[in-house]
Formats: sequence, structure tokens, C-alpha cells
Amino acid sequence: MSFLEDGAITAAALQAFADQGQHAARPVLNQLPLSELAQKLGLSQLIPYGGLQGERLNHFLADYLAASTCLHHPHFMAHQVAVPLPQSALAALVDGFTNNAMAIYEMGPAAAAVEHTILEWMLTKIGWSAAPLPGAHHEKGCAAAGVLTHGGSLANLTALSAARASIAPSAWETGTPPGLVILAPPSCHYSIARAAGIMGLGQRAVIAAPTDALGRLDPNRLSDAFRQIATDGRRVLAVVANACSTALGLYDPLRDIAEICRAHDARLHVDGAHGASVLLSPRLRHLVDGIELAQSVVWDAHKMLRTSTLCAALLVKDHRHLDRAFREEASYLFHDKDEPGFDFIHRTVECTKAGLGLKLFFALAYEGEAAIARMIERQTDLAQQAAQYLEDEPDIEVAVEPQSNIVCFRLAGSDALQLEMRRRLTQHGEFYISTAEALGRRWLRLALMNPATTLDDIKALLAELRAARARIIGETGAT
Ligand SMILES: *Cc1c(COP(=O)(O)O)cnc(C)c1O
Repeated sequence: MSFLEDGAITAAALQAFADQGQHAARPVLNQLPLSELAQKLGLSQLIPYGGLQGERLNHFLADYLAASTCLHHPHFMAHQVAVPLPQSALAALVDGFTNNAMAIYEMGPAAAAVEHTILEWMLTKIGWSAAPLPGAHHEKGCAAAGVLTHGGSLANLTALSAARASIAPSAWETGTPPGLVILAPPSCHYSIARAAGIMGLGQRAVIAAPTDALGRLDPNRLSDAFRQIATDGRRVLAVVANACSTALGLYDPLRDIAEICRAHDARLHVDGAHGASVLLSPRLRHLVDGIELAQSVVWDAHKMLRTSTLCAALLVKDHRHLDRAFREEASYLFHDKDEPGFDFIHRTVECTKAGLGLKLFFALAYEGEAAIARMIERQTDLAQQAAQYLEDEPDIEVAVEPQSNIVCFRLAGSDALQLEMRRRLTQHGEFYISTAEALGRRWLRLALMNPATTLDDIKALLAELRAARARIIGETGAT
């Protein structure tokens, strides 16, 4: 069997997977126990003897895809992961096939050119101008830069490492000095606390920034927090703002926050992993008004830009902060050389680096950025319609009016009841939603990623939830 024949088998299987999902001709979720699944897939037989090709490949893929979560299904409303454009997945294949580890230019000139251009495009959306390539003419002034990483979590770690390099330059040699803190709203993503742990600040160095009633960072009380930190003899490594928050999908008021940060000479990092994509929409861009005043921004393409996992960008306003973040020597990689391109290797934790930019580039180049912007607007509108519909139902409470494509709500009853409803739904596999804790309670949570999802799907979900609730109360007497 040739690559072309097996490729055709694979493409046909994937197309059928997406079609079945799209037409709800299969469950969105099908969780067999792991050991049973490993057996069914014949994994242990294939590893020693090989032979996964032709008809056997076809059967394997059928079983594999049957047990795969189907993001293409309109009832996929659980997590902030793109329903990728098939073209983006094709780019993942091209990248996997060529295997151009492009952190050094000579290992992937085309991939590096794509990454550089994609980053420039993203920087321009923020309102920054990209640093020119080495050798190019450069007007004096602040030049922005970026790098693509395997996910927003790694991008956040890289951003905070770059902040440390500029605030405490000796940290690289002698370790993180005591007293550095990260000021972030409690609604920030857990990767911020994880970065603090990894960097040796310790998770307790993440200090809860003042928030308003909905958990958004409150700029009016930010100065007080700065003063308290100074009184305690500590220093702010960076303020982290959400654009948008993970649980409720709310945007912190970036411009006001940035102005206070500037007054206190503090760095602002915007975690826009999910929500920075509104930069594409003239109608929604106001949600990140002032983002250009930050020192760094994280922006995931694999969330709102129809891009296959993973493709995240760390973008910095002053390229020197990122270029000085890591100071490693590896003589076989880092040396002065006369080259026509650019090495990304000094900007990233990773050494062997995939050509992540191609996946976003294929999505954009196939669909065009205006169409992707319209999709983001549509999903945001759908979230608002869903919230309105749910709000009008007597047995439902909606957490907040959505600002993004995330909706949190609960049916009458306890936190435990919400979790039990979701557990049953997940077991059944016809709908896939998540839950989140916010504002002191547990909510059912929709992340409306799929352009095929409609308000009717949400109405059908509600009917299913009510039926589950009635059964739970009937069986257990729970409330
Ligand atoms: C998704 C998300 C992250 C984590 O990004 P990954 O790409 O999943 O690692 C961080 N911050 C926010 C606000 C997010 O929404």
C-alpha cells in the first residue's frame, strides 16, 4: 500500500466522521473504558508486528473515530477548542510529513517564513509594528515580536519568564529573587499559577487583584493593591488581565488597567488565549480596547480561529524582552552565522519546534480573515441569544450576560445537582457541555465553538437537562 492510497482511506474516513457529526448521526461523545477500547483497537497486536495499512487501516480508523469525541457535532458545546477547518488539518499533515523543525531557519525556511508572517499579521492586529528581519532597515523605536508555542499555557510561562528577565535580569544566573509577585484576578487561567510554580516564585506569589461583582479586574482599586504590595516590601513582576476569562468569558477593562499599570511602572500581560481573536472583528474589537498598551499578549489560534491544535502566539511590544527571556548556549545551534532568515530558537522553551504557523495560515488563506471574523461574531451573537432564551425560563438562572461565546447557567437546584446532570449527559453522549465554578457557585457551561450549533440545539439541550433533573430528583430525592 502506498502513502497515496492510505492517505485516500484516511481522508475518506475523516470526511465521514465530520459528516456524521455534523448531521448528528453519531453521538458527540462515546467514552468506553480505556482497557476495553485499547483491546478493541488492537493496539497491542499492531505494535510488535505492524501491518496498519489498506483495509486494516480502514477498520482501525473506523474504530478509532467511533471512539473519538466529535467536535463537528452541533452538540459539542463543552470546551474552548476549535472545530478546525479541514484545510487547517491538511496543514498539520504537511507539517508532520515534512517534519521541518523550524526553530533554526535552515531546518525549515518556508515554515519560518510562514511563522514570521503570521506573527506580523497578529502584531499588526494589536496595533504594534513588527521588528524587521536582521539586516533590514529599521526606524528607531520600539519593535514588537512574537513566537508560536504549543499552547497558551506555555505562552503564558514564556511571557512571565520574559517579564522576569526584564524586571530581575540576574534571576537567570542566581535564581528568582524574593518578593516578586504576579497580580491577577482570581478568574485567571490556572496556567498563571502553574507558571509561578515553575518559575520558582511559588503559587502564593500570585496575588488576587481586586475585582468587581462579576470577577473582572477592577481598575479603580488597582492602585491600592500596588501600594499594599510596595508597603509589604514586594515588587510586581506583572499584572495579568483576562481577555477573556475562562469560566465566564468576561473581558477585563484593558485600557483602564493599562493606564494604572503605567502610572505604577508595572508590566501588563494580557491573557487573550481565547478572546484576543475579537481583534479581527470591527464590531467586537472594543472588548480589547487598550490591548496595545500591554507589554505582552497571548493569543491562541486553536480556539477561535478554526485552527487545529496547537497554535498559540506570545506577542510582545518590545522584542528585546522576549529575545532576552532565555539565555542558553548550545554551540551547535546558537552561533553567529550568515543566514538569509531568522532563528526562533532563543524565544522559546522548545528546541525541536513544529511549524505551527502553517495551520493558522491554511485556515486564513482558505477562508479569509473576514469570514473567520464573521464566524466569531456569529458565535458571540448565539451566546447572547442563548442567554436571553435561558434567562426567560422560570427554572433557569444565567450567570452573566455573555461577552464572548461562553454561556454559564444553572437549573434550579444545588451545585451537586448541576454536576450530576452533566455527568448523566456525558454518559449518554448526545450532548457535551462543561461546568465551571464562578461567583461562588457551580454553573453548567457552554463554549459555543461550532458554527453548526443553533439556538434549537440549545433548546434541545435544555429539554434533556430538565429530563435528567427530574430523573435525579425522582431517584434520589435530591434538590
Ligand atoms: C485556554 C486558555 C489558556 C490555556 O491555553 P492552552 O492553549 O489550552 O494551553 C490560558 N488562558 C486562557 C484565558 C485560556 O482561555
